Amino acid sequence: MDVVVAGAGIAGLSCARELAAAGVTVRVVERGRVAGGRLASKRIDGRYADIGAAYFVADDPGFHALAERWRARGLARPWTDTFSVFPGEPVTGPVRWAAPGGLRSLAEDLAEGLDVRLATVLTTLDVDADAVVLAMPGPQALRLDPPAAVAGAARAQVWQPVIAAVLTYPERVWAELPGAFVNDHPVLATVCDDGDRRGDRAPVLVAHSTAGLARQHLDDPSAAGPVLAKAVGELLGIAAEPAIHAHRWTYAQPQPGGDAAYATDGRVWLAGDAFGKPRVQTAWQSGRAVAQAILQSTVR
Ligand SMILES: Cc1cc2nc3c(=O)[nH]c(=O)nc-3n(C[C@H](O)[C@H](O)[C@H](O)COP(=O)(O)OP(=O)(O)OC[C@H]3O[C@@H](n4cnc5c(N)ncnc54)[C@H](O)[C@@H]3O)c2cc1C
Repeated sequence: MDVVVAGAGIAGLSCARELAAAGVTVRVVERGRVAGGRLASKRIDGRYADIGAAYFVADDPGFHALAERWRARGLARPWTDTFSVFPGEPVTGPVRWAAPGGLRSLAEDLAEGLDVRLATVLTTLDVDADAVVLAMPGPQALRLDPPAAVAGAARAQVWQPVIAAVLTYPERVWAELPGAFVNDHPVLATVCDDGDRRGDRAPVLVAHSTAGLARQHLDDPSAAGPVLAKAVGELLGIAAEPAIHAHRWTYAQPQPGGDAAYATDGRVWLAGDAFGKPRVQTAWQSGRAVAQAILQSTVR
C-alpha cells in the first residue's frame, strides 16, 4: 500500500509514523523548507525562538507517553503550570511542555527515518497512491479541490490569523513571567518568556497578536512588530527597545471542531488541529486517527 501525506506538521508526521510502523510505504511532501508547520522555531542571531505554538499540553495517554519519551531523551521538558493573566491573578492549569531545542525539534524527531520531501508542494490529488492525506488547515486543502465530503469539512473550518513578534532585549529586565494571557487588549493576546521556556534564560519574549491586529497587517507583518513591542513594554514595564522579528500566520488558530477526528471521502483524508480543541495534541491525535482508519480499511 502507498500513501502520500501532504504536510509535515505534527498531524502529517504522526500519521506517517503510524503508517510506516505498520509497514505501509509513505511519502510525506512538505511545502516548507523545514518540517514542523506551526510547530515552528526560527533561528534569530544563532538562537532558536518559538514563533508558532507556545507550548503543548499532553493529557492524552498516547501523547503523554510520547512527551515522556522526549523528556527521557532531553528533547522536551515540563515548563510551567502557571500563567500570568492581565488584568488579573495568575492561573494554574495543566502542565505546559516546552523544548530546549525549540518545538520544531520535536517535529524533526518525528520526521527521522521517514521519506519527507521538503520544499515540495502537492498541487494535485491525481497522484499515484492508494490514499492521500491532507494534513493541513482546511483553506489550504481546498486549493487541491478535494472531493465533496472533505471539501465540506474544510469549508466548515473557521480560522483566525496571528502575528508573532520575537522581541530580543539587551538583558532580562522583567519580573518572572513565565507566560501571560492578555485579556481584552486591542493588539496583544499572549506573551511568553522564550528564554525561560527554552531554559537558556536568553532575554527574549515572544508576543502573539490579537486576530484583529493580524488582519490589519497581513500584507505587511513587520509593521505589527513595533506595535506589539510597545504593548509588551507597557504591560511589563520594560523601557528598553528590543530587536524585533515578526512572523505572519494567516491560518493560525481554527475554531474548536466537533467530535470527528478527521474527514474523508474515497481515498482522500483531511487531518489537523481543527478536529477538536485547536492545539498540538489534537493535531497529533488527528493524524494518528487517520493512519489507524487507513490501516483498518485495508484489513476489511
Ligand atoms: C501563533 C500560534 C500559537 C499557537 N499556540 C499554541 C499553543 O500554545 N499550544 C498548542 O497546543 N498549540 C498552539 N498552536 C497551534 C499548534 O501550532 C497547531 O495545533 C499544530 O501545530 C497544528 O499542526 P498541523 O500538523 O495540524 O498543521 P500545520 O502545523 O499547519 O502543518 C500543515 C503543514 O502542511 C504544509 N502544507 C500546506 N499545504 C501544502 C501542500 N499543498 N503541499 C505540501 N505541504 C503543504 C504546511 O507548509 C505545513 O507545514 C499555536 C499556533 C500558532 C500559529
